[in-house]
Amino acid sequence: MKIGILAVQGAFIEHERILSQLGVECVELRQASDISELDGLVLPGGESTVQGKLLHELNMFEPMKQLITDGLPTLATCAGLILLAEHISNDSIVHLGTLPVRVKRNAYGRQLGSFRKKDNFKGIGEFEMTFIRAPYIEFAGTTEVLATVDERIVAVKHKNQIGLAFHPELGEDLRIHQMFVKMCKESSPHN
Ligand code: GLN
Repeated sequence: MKIGILAVQGAFIEHERILSQLGVECVELRQASDISELDGLVLPGGESTVQGKLLHELNMFEPMKQLITDGLPTLATCAGLILLAEHISNDSIVHLGTLPVRVKRNAYGRQLGSFRKKDNFKGIGEFEMTFIRAPYIEFAGTTEVLATVDERIVAVKHKNQIGLAFHPELGEDLRIHQMFVKMCKESSPHN
């Protein structure tokens, strides 16, 4: 079992740290040739505009989009969620566009740039969520809502894709990654 973590910008080390604690082999994806024989994909937080641009420049955009469309389990946090979203309400660009939701970037405004909140996460229970200049999901369509904080949707699942507005990799609670690893194991041809 091998999980690829997009490592061109942003908080990829933190995901690696958690997945390693769970005993999972990780590979940092820095160029197109790194994308091979993956059982899962992590798109980390950071700056979605920069990440989207680099995906094109490094020729990773098409192979990554194809793998996600073909069903590769994908965990996307914050900027990663923006990369997956089919619509971004306050940006004219669409990146991978594989997740049928509409997100709003930097949606909490300047004053509330960064905050923590404990709330229910479907199938897990109370989870402390860390938000950093986060988006939220304005329209979740047919996706399954996994978490809502202050009436705003902050986590969804759609088939093989999980999109989170917050950063589970910044805390010590491993349960969301555990759930994702389980998904990867169940769909892996390599285990
Ligand atoms: N504000 C960033 C963006 O729009 C996302 C922030 C994050 O990933 N923590 O891409």
